[in-house]
Amino acid sequence: MRLLVVEDERKVASFIKKGLEEEGYAVDVAADGKSGLQMAQDRVHDLIILDIQLPKMDGLSVLNALRREKVAIPVLLLTVRATIEDKVLGLDAGADDYLTKPFAFQELVARVRALLRRRADAKQPVLQVADLVLDPARRVVFRDSQKLELTTREFALLDYLMRNPGRVLTRTMIAEHVWDYDFDSATNVIDVYVNYLRKKIDADREQKLIHTVRGVGYMLKAE
Ligand code: CA
Repeated sequence: MRLLVVEDERKVASFIKKGLEEEGYAVDVAADGKSGLQMAQDRVHDLIILDIQLPKMDGLSVLNALRREKVAIPVLLLTVRATIEDKVLGLDAGADDYLTKPFAFQELVARVRALLRRRADAKQPVLQVADLVLDPARRVVFRDSQKLELTTREFALLDYLMRNPGRVLTRTMIAEHVWDYDFDSATNVIDVYVNYLRKKIDADREQKLIHTVRGVGYMLKAE
């Protein structure tokens, strides 16, 4: 899951980024409305946390522009003004939820989870490759009907692999989808995580599903 935070107050932005990363999300930050809109237009994020008061382009204008362009990514608005009019304005513009500053981080996480779950319930069918089953809405994984315990990052990695069965995914592609934009793909973090996944999914199984494509990356497929 990859989130975009559009917030010009650096302290608030880094507090949100750090906290959400600890929850296992990949987080990109834009410091003004214009660059936030540009990053959102790439449609690579699962959720946008959008401050209303921003330089260059305010949050409501960003939201209006996104909805006009049929970008349907859920948006959580941050506002310091908690008047009914502001909330109505935000929801009318196509926000999915809003949070009034200052807020407790746990409340932000709860809202983020709820929005992502709602989106998952609405859109994401259960994924299956051979006897491996991943249910994005319930966030559970089974192999041969046996439930597997995955960490948040392992789950995100497997989710990406299972959405692209039979396709070679390079380390760069994996980094961009499961980690951050500025991820250093020269590190071996991806290999380490693929090995964690392998241990849980393929160890002691006759049929291996995760395949190494030498010098390129990885692929999930049933032989
Ligand atoms: Ca602001």
